[in-house]
Amino acid sequence: MLKVVIASGNRGKLREFEEILKEKITPYFELLDEFEIIEDGDSFAQNALIKAREIYKKLGCEYIVVSDDSGISIDALGGKPGVYSARFAGEEASDRDNLIKAIDSLKELKIGESKAHYSAAIAIVSKYGEYVVHGKMYGKVIDTPRGDKGFGYDPIFIPDGFDKTLGELDSKIKESLSHRAKALNLAKPIIDMIRRYGE
Ligand code: IMP
Repeated sequence: MLKVVIASGNRGKLREFEEILKEKITPYFELLDEFEIIEDGDSFAQNALIKAREIYKKLGCEYIVVSDDSGISIDALGGKPGVYSARFAGEEASDRDNLIKAIDSLKELKIGESKAHYSAAIAIVSKYGEYVVHGKMYGKVIDTPRGDKGFGYDPIFIPDGFDKTLGELDSKIKESLSHRAKALNLAKPIIDMIRRYGE
């Protein structure tokens, strides 16, 4: 059976992928030395494909490589940081630096809040071709962080239908709404289909 490999070194993502895909997933660094991949695409889909293709090229055709690229787009900032979410405050920026930069940018506008959405693209690369699926989570961002759950921009993001930030809401709620969960739920039947091709 073709093995699923995730093109990410992030343990949180690995756990999320395993929970939704309901199988053991191998992180690529268990099979290959870690190496830098330049994510210079101008969309989430392109960056997810760049990562999955690079790993697939090195691993070969007995694997299904999945990768994700994600970020937040803030309407009042013209859709920024978007694909630059992981490096909004600079190439070496931490999640905390990026969050502070988003808060400062909103404070400068003196509007208190803005519509925003998270996006995730998941690429699936195997000998049966390439696929990309997307998921989004809509809501708003506020200029004052609340709560310490989640990661990244979660302390300022309030999903539609709620009055708490993802920093305050139970992680189960986020898992049921998240951009990545939605994309992963679309990726699952594609992975199953690729497996059937391989039988
Ligand atoms: P990636 O790991 O290259 O996909 O970068 C994603 C970046 O987008 C992260 O550094 C976070 O700043 C942000 N991001 C993506 N998804 C989430 C989320 O679910 N919560 C908070 N921040 C997120």
